[in-house]
Parts: sequence; structure tokens; C-alpha cells
Amino acid sequence: MIEGLMIENPYIIENENFCVFATQSLKEMANASFDELNLNKKRILDFFQLKKFRKVSIIQFDNRENFRKFVLSLRGPGAHLPEYAQGVFDKGMSISFIDLKIIKDENVFIEKAKINVHEFIHIVNREKIYKERVVWLDEGLATNLDGKRELLKEKDKFIEFLNNKILSIKVLPEINDLSHKGQGFKQEFYDGYDLVYLSVRYLLETKNKNKLFKILKDNNLAIKVGKTVLKDAINYYKDKLSI
Ligand SMILES: [Zn+2]
Repeated sequence: MIEGLMIENPYIIENENFCVFATQSLKEMANASFDELNLNKKRILDFFQLKKFRKVSIIQFDNRENFRKFVLSLRGPGAHLPEYAQGVFDKGMSISFIDLKIIKDENVFIEKAKINVHEFIHIVNREKIYKERVVWLDEGLATNLDGKRELLKEKDKFIEFLNNKILSIKVLPEINDLSHKGQGFKQEFYDGYDLVYLSVRYLLETKNKNKLFKILKDNNLAIKVGKTVLKDAINYYKDKLSI
């Protein structure tokens, strides 16, 4: 059992890889999340060149306040959690808030079931790969590997994404400055997740595994790459797709 967990009589589903604790109201979501995790675990470990990984706990709240309270209690006094946060990884656990109202929509349900896959990527990256977290790189990797943006593999959709979400931004931010503190990733004129997705997609497409792992493991190198990677990615795709 998890200390201080604000879920009475939780629904639990587990095997040797994952244990999901959820409110009874989220039983279906817990099952779907559990399936997603088990389905994607090997693919993610293969990417990180790992054979195995410890068992991971997943916690799902149907109440935003309890989610925030629990996460902030884990983080300790003076801790910060951005307003937009719905999934986090703290103390090696994936913790999320799931709004029962919005998951009535089947597409939203499927997307939310992948939140834990995203957090699992962060957990593995933190425990096995980097020493110091470089946020743009960690988020970029998770958004590329979590399966939520599969549609962007289609050329037309990707061009639409580039035009609407990237090329329309008047002043691009420094991606090394993107963080989850203050206003964080979601700004008025851009969504940081779009920028880091594109940057890391470019790295995955153009760097061999050796070079990529050098960047993933070395935070100084990652920060250096971060100075130009977004512009490099934009130029690369503009050229490649003739836009
Ligand atoms: Zn993330």
C-alpha cells in the first residue's frame, strides 16, 4: 500500500511489471492504462537498450484536488506543480488526474490511457540514462515515444502541424529555457510540447543511436544541442518537405 494515498478502497490491478491503484470510478481507465503499459514496455526498454526494469506503481485520481494534494505532499514544503499538470512522475511512481467527464469521449479515453506510458518513459530515463534532467530533451523524448502523436507520422498531418503549431510562432523561445516552473510549457503563443516534440523527432531521424545516447546521457552536451536544435529541425523539415 502507498503511504498517504488519498484513495479509499482503491481498485488495484497488477502483475510483475506494474501495479495500478485507482479510484473505483476509474476501473476501466485503470485497466486500459495497465494494458497500454504492458503493451509498450518492451518497445520502450528496447529503445533505451535495457533488458528489464523494476515494477512501477501507477496512481490514478478522479479528483484534481486530491491529485494535487498527494503530489505536493510527496514534493514537500514550497513545492510547485503547474496548473496544467495532469500526469507527473514523483518518487518513481506515475501519478495522474483523470477527469471523468472528459473521458466519456472515446478518443480522449484512449489518449488518457497513454499518460502513464509517457510518465514511464520519464521514469526509465531518469533512473537509467541521464544524471541531470534537461527538460526539453526528456519531454521531447517522451512525446515522441508515448504514442500519442502517431497521426503526425502521416506526411499531410505533419505538414499541417508544422504550419499551424510551429511556423506560425512569431518569436521562438529558447528551448533550454522551457521548464515546468512558473507559467511553464503552455504559453499564450506556443505549446512547449510541440517544440520539443519537433526537436527530438529531428534528432531521432538524423542522429545514430550512439550519438543520440551521448546527448541523452550528457546534460552539458544536451544544453549545447538545445541552443540550435529547434532552428535546425525547422530548417531540416522545411527543406525535406519543401514548405
Ligand atoms: Zn512529460
